Amino acid sequence: MPGVRTVEQSGAAPANPASGQSVVLLAPFDGWAAPLSEVPDPVFAERMMGDGVAIDPLGSVLTAPCDGEIILLHAALHAVTLRAGNGAEILMHIGLDTVALGGRGFTAHVAQGQKVKAGDKLISFDLDQLAQSARSLVTPILVTNGDGFVVEGRKENVRIGRGQELMTVRHVSSAPLAAAGTGREIRRELVVPLAHGIHARPAARLAGLAKNFTAEVAILSGEMRANARSPVALMKLGLTKGARVTILATGPDAEQAAAALADLIESGMGEETAAPAAPTIQAPPAPLRDGALAGVRAAPGVALGVAVRLMPPEICVEEQGQGVAHEARCLSAALAVVKTNLEAAAGKNATLAAILDAHLGILDDPELAAEAEARIGQGKSAGHAWRSAIQNQVAVLKALKDPRLAERAADLIDLERQVLSALGGAEAVAMALPPNAILLAQDILPSQLAGIDASRLAGLAMAEGGPTSHAAILAASMNIPALVACGPALLDIPDGAMIVLDADHGRLIVDPPQLVREDIERAIANRREARRAAQANAQALCHTKDGVRIEICANLGSVEDAVTAVAAGAEGCGLLRTEFLFLDRQSAPSETEQADVYRAIAEALAGRPLIVRTLDIGGDKPAAYLPFPPEENPALGLRGVRVSLWRPDLLATQLRAILRGIPATQCRIMVPMIASLDELRQVRRILDDARAELGIADPVPLGVMIETPAAAITADILAAEADFFSIGTNDLTQYSLAMDRGNARLAAQFDALHPAVLRLIAATAKGADQHGRRTGVCGGLGSDVAAAPILIGLGVRSLSGTASQIAELKSVIANLTLEQCRRLADKALAATSARQVRELNPGD
Ligand code: PEP
Ligand code: MG
Repeated sequence: MPGVRTVEQSGAAPANPASGQSVVLLAPFDGWAAPLSEVPDPVFAERMMGDGVAIDPLGSVLTAPCDGEIILLHAALHAVTLRAGNGAEILMHIGLDTVALGGRGFTAHVAQGQKVKAGDKLISFDLDQLAQSARSLVTPILVTNGDGFVVEGRKENVRIGRGQELMTVRHVSSAPLAAAGTGREIRRELVVPLAHGIHARPAARLAGLAKNFTAEVAILSGEMRANARSPVALMKLGLTKGARVTILATGPDAEQAAAALADLIESGMGEETAAPAAPTIQAPPAPLRDGALAGVRAAPGVALGVAVRLMPPEICVEEQGQGVAHEARCLSAALAVVKTNLEAAAGKNATLAAILDAHLGILDDPELAAEAEARIGQGKSAGHAWRSAIQNQVAVLKALKDPRLAERAADLIDLERQVLSALGGAEAVAMALPPNAILLAQDILPSQLAGIDASRLAGLAMAEGGPTSHAAILAASMNIPALVACGPALLDIPDGAMIVLDADHGRLIVDPPQLVREDIERAIANRREARRAAQANAQALCHTKDGVRIEICANLGSVEDAVTAVAAGAEGCGLLRTEFLFLDRQSAPSETEQADVYRAIAEALAGRPLIVRTLDIGGDKPAAYLPFPPEENPALGLRGVRVSLWRPDLLATQLRAILRGIPATQCRIMVPMIASLDELRQVRRILDDARAELGIADPVPLGVMIETPAAAITADILAAEADFFSIGTNDLTQYSLAMDRGNARLAAQFDALHPAVLRLIAATAKGADQHGRRTGVCGGLGSDVAAAPILIGLGVRSLSGTASQIAELKSVIANLTLEQCRRLADKALAATSARQVRELNPGD
């Protein structure tokens, strides 16, 4: 299993205790008992880890609250978990953020696996030291395997003495305990490979899978624990790419459950495992002149249409219910209605189906249901209970550090509205739109988009939202130009106003003058026609109007990509990202395995040139079997060629596999993240050894990826020994602008057409020219149609990127002369911002 360690533990779960068995927990020290909701940490206050009570301690020795077994003593000695006789697992967490003390001030009196009696000393702590160094002394005491237990008779808001009754934990459902009764726990540790982490869709899939097993399955991350059957709990873990998690399964089919969940996570779940190239045609969201608004491009294209504001009315709900049974019935009926609606809408398109599937998973979430039921039990109405349960989770998601996960709050709000509408008896009605409607909204919810007649929708603009929100993904899948983050002024645009939505330039123009209108209409018509014509010529070799040969290739990551690229008109592969062979597994691929895959890709390219990039892991692409030393700043750490030179055995194997798999006529090799000539020389020596071993006499072109400002500035030195250059504009932009390429908050400013990046590209091409070397671009800018003339003017002669852009690139280039491109490039180099560069026109 890739990246997975399995540990079997001999847990001491009780043999099938009868349902209803209660255990009284005694206060583990003197102190002030308070509701968990008052703990100043959402992990505890929101009961993410389980239900219980908190105590502000007055004593300095934590004692056992009941008889049981110590099943977990945290290495930092600030937390201990004890399994009671009825199977309840009781966590006592001394203070908040005390893990950071690394054990200072704590003394353990017990060991993991030890049996204890109520009142036995567990951990002593230095109260004075903690008072000074911990965020808070408050100590949550809670049941972490809460599925089968309820907490009753809790003492709250009272002074309590050590050994006095604190709460009772009653076992209510036999299922989890029957499962736990085997006494086996399976743990699997792994690294999350998904580019966007465990957000709504993966969480819903995991929860759906977990429900197929009788085993109780939890996912642990640091000190947090989530019931794997709860998509909301999984989302709240805030797991981002590279997060280390443990799958903990207990029960007869624990092994299978843990393996199935680990496999699903490690498969990448069909999501991108590499962070997507940052959007390049974007403008920062700042007000523009002349009645125009700025936004961030969420889906490309230009549209002209009429404004339709989507301002759904506020839904009011009664707080008090009309009886627990009645409200519970209403909620379950409303949930059933929404489910049916979602299932019906999912048939419209595959992207929508995946998103709505996640919504179905959230509707089924046991934790959300339990929270709503608990509020109904307190006398609240079904609507109030549902809204509170959702809003609690929304607050937690919005508080997460990862903006991509915070964007998922829109999915919960969407379900809040749908269920409240169903409770009020509202039918899901499709919105009536005029032809060419441009929808304006605060934040368009996926269900609102799903209910729209797409044939009448010309564009979308949102005051808020992010470029990776579900609404943005849906818009792109429907080919509808979309802008997000346009600001509150968007909603001041009156219904019926004529609007130009230019997503490519990140702007929205209200009531455009007649001339602008006609220009845009012409541009839209031309674009349609150009696309059609471009497709017809996609297989021709690419030249400028005056005959300069420009190679248009595709970036590949698999054999399937190669097949698609050739069909789309690729003249070769400008970048084979070989990481796909190395990530998500427990050991490196063998030489033969690699050679077979490289051979299959070369065959799919049918003789076209194939540039293979040597392994580019580290940084944002960790490999589980390469235990990197922890790095404070991985983007500036051991990555790319630095990993290859740290593990030359891996590089030598890969080079031999490339030489064996790819015919000499097709084969070129390039090295990522080069910062100095010495690195290239070391790689060349290893390559020469590999050639000698295989008896290959002909030299194989060895190129350098220009991804660091250092490489660009010293291009003339590198070009003396490199056979070609290929510019990785994603990393070159990241390192020259000092902006994280994966940070959604910076997406609007992360533009490789920044004049600073262009000057580095110019320096690269100039350095290459001095030694007669060819310069290509294989980063995101390589598929950017607006950038192509500038790149050619700067001296780039090969572009490689997304297969879907090949036809349009070829057709744009065929209509430009080299002189036009050079003039444009000069202007771009002299521009003051990426925005100014994007406003340039090759015809000027
Ligand atoms: C780049 O950095 O532009 C590049 C092509 O490499 P990657 O995106 O794989 O880091
Ligand atoms: Mg790169």
